[in-house]
Amino acid sequence: MLEQKEIAYENTVLVGIVTQGQDADTLEDYLDELQFLAYTAGGEVKRRFTQRMERPNPKTFIGTGKMETLMEYVKENDISTVIFDDELTPAQQNNIEKLLRCKILDRTGLILDIFAQRAKTSYARTQVELAQYEYLLPRLTGLWTHLERQRGGIGMRGPGETEIETDRRIVRDRIALLKKKLQTIDKQMAVQRGNRGALVRVVLVGYTNVGKSTLMNVISKSNVFAENKLFATLDTTVRKVVIGNLPFLLSDTVGFIRKLPTQLVESFKSTLDEVREADLLLHVVDISHPNFEEHIESVNAILDEIHCADKPTLMVFNKIDAYTHEIIADDDLTTERTNKHNTLAEWQRTWMARANGDAIFISALNKENLEEFRKVVYEKVREIHITRFPYNHFLYPSYEENQE
Ligand code: GDP
Ligand code: MG
Repeated sequence: MLEQKEIAYENTVLVGIVTQGQDADTLEDYLDELQFLAYTAGGEVKRRFTQRMERPNPKTFIGTGKMETLMEYVKENDISTVIFDDELTPAQQNNIEKLLRCKILDRTGLILDIFAQRAKTSYARTQVELAQYEYLLPRLTGLWTHLERQRGGIGMRGPGETEIETDRRIVRDRIALLKKKLQTIDKQMAVQRGNRGALVRVVLVGYTNVGKSTLMNVISKSNVFAENKLFATLDTTVRKVVIGNLPFLLSDTVGFIRKLPTQLVESFKSTLDEVREADLLLHVVDISHPNFEEHIESVNAILDEIHCADKPTLMVFNKIDAYTHEIIADDDLTTERTNKHNTLAEWQRTWMARANGDAIFISALNKENLEEFRKVVYEKVREIHITRFPYNHFLYPSYEENQE
């Protein structure tokens, strides 16, 4: 694996706006995440530019005055990439590029770039390439020059690396071809999934960087790549896991993130087939993240989009070792109590109630409460298995008996 440290980080600036639907605190959260995304792609964020506006400027996204300040900053600080948190229209992207004369990316473009960097198998690469071309198609007029493309770096990985194809027709043909290629692979994958036979399928889902791959590794003793980066793993890994004497299949999937564009979800349809065909979802949550509840909502929204919201789900709250909460001093009578003041035990009660008992709190890293986790997963898998094969009732006793 290439050490990120050896890579020269590019000077990067982030831009976001405060609007009616997005207050200053929310924007800060979004920009924190965008900064993490930029870092994952190889960018060092030098500064954030934010502006309060009714609605984005149709020509330049931010206002004229702000744009002048930004232009000056970019010129004086050797900035090579400016990343906007929201999706830019092709026209905006084009205009801004002309003004700033550096690489302009929006959140989607950045995520696609990380995907391109991290896709390992030809299957994942094909899915990413398709998503990139679909993203590129309406933006073909505003491409960077050939020379700039050859320099590489953030936003430059993927289609057009060797040659810019400004001909929309060529891109459309390419999209059609990639779709066909994916269809062929999909069929093969469906057959493979079919061949896995009667085993119960358990799939890890969740926001990116919550510890899905780490949990996969401790449970299945496999060696899936886990790293404190967004989208460290893009390819689905499936392992046969045995608890007691009960075998089942466990899959690690790509993480979700908010503002994930539909076209991207669409390109990853086949990866998400793994989720669709699951018997049981383990929805992993990073409880140490201040916005973990929003993350849960984003994941649920995507599950809903792919019609998986009703699947049996166990909520797995991970990273309890890193959980901290704010404390109100006894003599402090003004601070209002919020969720941020919840103790772990309070969250446990809340979520046990909300998830009808299907919630568990663990640390995959410190191996805390993993025995309980194995027990809960065993019982759930056993239940599904026995519904299908009532005869096997005798084969798989309760967890405790099975441990003897
Ligand atoms: P994924 O994107 O959901 O697959 O997340 P990874 O498994 O790649 O983990 C992301 C980061 O979280 C890595 O740096 C892990 O070491 C870290 N991590 C995973 N589980 C835990 C945990 O229980 N506690 C803490 N503190 N960190 C964890
Ligand atoms: Mg992972």
